Amino acid sequence: MPDPVTHFIGGAPVALGPTFAACDPVTGREVRRVHEADRSVVDRAVAAARAALPGWAALPVAERAAWTRRLGDAIEERFEDLVAAEIADTGKSITQTRTLDIPRGAANFRAFAEIAAQRPESAFHLKDALSYTVRRPLGVVAVIVPWNLPFLLATWKLGPCLVAGNTVVAKPSEHTPGSLAVLAEIAASIGLPPGVLNVVNGFGTGSTGQFLVEHPGVDAVTFTGESRTGSAIMKAVADRVKPVSFELGGKNAGLVFADADLEAAVEGSVRSVFTNGGQVCLCTERLYVERPVFGEFVERLAEGARGLAFGRPRDESTVMMPMISAEHRDKVLTYYALAKDEGATIHTGGGTPRFGDERDGGYYVEPTVLTGLPNDSRVNREEIFGPVCHVAPFDSETEAVGLANDSEYGLAATVWTSSLNRAHRVARSLEAGLVWVNTWYLRDLRTPFGGVRLSGIGREGGTHSLDFYSEPTTITIKL
Ligand code: NAD
Repeated sequence: MPDPVTHFIGGAPVALGPTFAACDPVTGREVRRVHEADRSVVDRAVAAARAALPGWAALPVAERAAWTRRLGDAIEERFEDLVAAEIADTGKSITQTRTLDIPRGAANFRAFAEIAAQRPESAFHLKDALSYTVRRPLGVVAVIVPWNLPFLLATWKLGPCLVAGNTVVAKPSEHTPGSLAVLAEIAASIGLPPGVLNVVNGFGTGSTGQFLVEHPGVDAVTFTGESRTGSAIMKAVADRVKPVSFELGGKNAGLVFADADLEAAVEGSVRSVFTNGGQVCLCTERLYVERPVFGEFVERLAEGARGLAFGRPRDESTVMMPMISAEHRDKVLTYYALAKDEGATIHTGGGTPRFGDERDGGYYVEPTVLTGLPNDSRVNREEIFGPVCHVAPFDSETEAVGLANDSEYGLAATVWTSSLNRAHRVARSLEAGLVWVNTWYLRDLRTPFGGVRLSGIGREGGTHSLDFYSEPTTITIKL
């Protein structure tokens, strides 16, 4: 990967704009520099995408699907480079990066190739008329993604967006430019038509991200990130009523009933709270546990948290990763301090680990388990996005559902129970886009993904993605 990291426009690297530092979250040290795209670079990228649009949109869907399948195959060939780029930017564990982040990137291109190629056209016959629908791409789409699962989340949008016939200007987070820079090299190496996929680097407000969403040549915005950024983007595109697809924040609840397999509920909750350092939009930050098993559950969850290994990213036994930046670490630590001030009991964690080596300059925080706060405390209402959860007891199913739904967010929830009836009853009462029963983060890429309230607008996944990334035209012919 070049240092400084360049943009990728019209099929070639472009080294324009001032550079900023990308830091290794493991040590806090600068690892490389990245070019920041100003308005003129964004103009160039949008122009390249627009020039490529007619040719790309005119290809039969089977040909576009063949291209995205080829991208998936080429990702496998550059697998270890992508793993290295992702680890350098995020400090993720190698085990997670090899089993989740990068394989899902390849799967995102392949799955949408299959789904798009197999999608039937719809036609309706009346006695004296035939109505049918054709779908056309939206045009040039801005793809803006966060730092927590950089490759997985970018490809989740790029796969369906490209196969639906759009051309793209993508902007990764300023913290994690690496894996999309490698994807740009891959696109060039397989001969993807120039301008179909463009990548610009930079910050959000007052920088590349804002210039991109405001650009009159951008027809739609697909965004994953914080709810308040989604709100700012919505305002920025309001005058042109550009379509938006938003995957935003969460404050996800987990419900553990006394009839659950407690071992599975504890293990599953350790994963759902602490995976990726708690920096997944789907992570559980609020757990509600039926009173008879509350004490034992809290004890075992805290024990599980204490057992999470803080190794170096490339050590295969490592589980915990650092926070992405000093700023984000400080935000998480502010919530740890706030929990103490609000009177929480801290069962484990609550501070920063000490290593006695260069990792002490990194952005690590301890996995933390809290109890004793009311549901209306800030710690229970605001998204922290760190390795922390609060656990509260409940006495009835109705109370549990009420506590879970008492949130401005509504992305994901987990339910742990051995009662089939309760599982169905509770799952459909939860006001969230995704509910997992006796598991967490088990994904079928054909199913709709997204949240309600502050957690987003619209659904992606399977044909839901293809619907967002295209516009139907209904044609009716008098027979
Ligand atoms: P963020 O909103 O700060 O940044 C996301 C991206 O938006 C970055 O590329 C950033 O540069 C850009 N951006 C920021 N301001 C912008 C603006 N005004 N105009 C255009 N672009 C702008 O989010 P983050 O801190 O990178 O990511 C963490 C957040 O993402 C959490 O809230 C998390 O819940 C959410 N998230 C949601 C999902 C989901 O699927 N619902 C998935 C992952 C992360």
